[in-house]
Amino acid sequence: MLFLFFLIAVKTFKYNFISNDVIPVTLLSDYEFCQRKIFLDKVLKIAAPPKDEVIKDIIRHKVFDLINKEEQTVVESIKKRPSYSQILDKYKDSHADILRKVISDNKQSLIDINASLIDFFKKSWPMIVRESTFRAENLFNFVARHEVYSEELWNQLTPKMYSEVNVQSENLMLRGAIDRVEKYPDKKLLYEIKTGRAPDRGVWPSHKLQLAAYAMIMRELGENVRGYFITYLDVNQSRELIVNSFLEERVLKTRDAIINILEKRELPEFTENKNKCNSCSLKEKCYDNDFVKKKVFELLGK
Ligand code: SF4
Repeated sequence: MLFLFFLIAVKTFKYNFISNDVIPVTLLSDYEFCQRKIFLDKVLKIAAPPKDEVIKDIIRHKVFDLINKEEQTVVESIKKRPSYSQILDKYKDSHADILRKVISDNKQSLIDINASLIDFFKKSWPMIVRESTFRAENLFNFVARHEVYSEELWNQLTPKMYSEVNVQSENLMLRGAIDRVEKYPDKKLLYEIKTGRAPDRGVWPSHKLQLAAYAMIMRELGENVRGYFITYLDVNQSRELIVNSFLEERVLKTRDAIINILEKRELPEFTENKNKCNSCSLKEKCYDNDFVKKKVFELLGK
């Protein structure tokens, strides 16, 4: 059965904001970091993502899309009780084929940005192995408990996993790609997967906003989601987030503040937290007043 939200049309987001555009959920986290950075990045386009990163991201999404679609074939190929390593190998073989196929289909795009096809494969491989491992563990545990195989195994498999799920709500003016959705017969669970340092307890504020935004979009889409988690790979823990009305209000306020930045096109002040500036990729340009003034004049005529 198809997920309703797989069918959501992809819409090009223009940072010259107009009223019926949608905001990428990732901008909510960016706003938590620094409002000025959003302006420099999205309005002045000082840090527009390099073309090669955009292309690699598109290819990565295609890989996960095929991994979702090929899951049934992998599962139905299990005809008798396998060992864990046999299941893992099946997934790794299938996912490696998918990665090779997508790279081959997009060969010209990669050549155009001077990316080596082999390097792209090697760099993508750890991410793919993580996906294979996650799915293999789920399938192995299910087979061990239920001892069903082939088509029956696919029909009964619970949960079913979907990665990089595109969602969008015109009403909320928000869109994004959820890292992982687990589908059970009566509910769905939603996961965002994060690298980097985990907080001692709970989840980082920017991750709260992101997950709450996805919760709101899923509700808008009529999806029955019963749990929201951030998985911190560093500590190998999934931490649940309770999405309440206060958090939802913060999402909407942050979204509106971002729209305000994009629409008003006025340069926000520097952040007060200079530690953020020290780790900011735009620091040099941001603090170069002449450069910023020139950019503002060139793009906005003021
Ligand atoms: S250098 Fe500081 S003020 Fe400027 S964009 Fe980066 S974080 Fe914001």
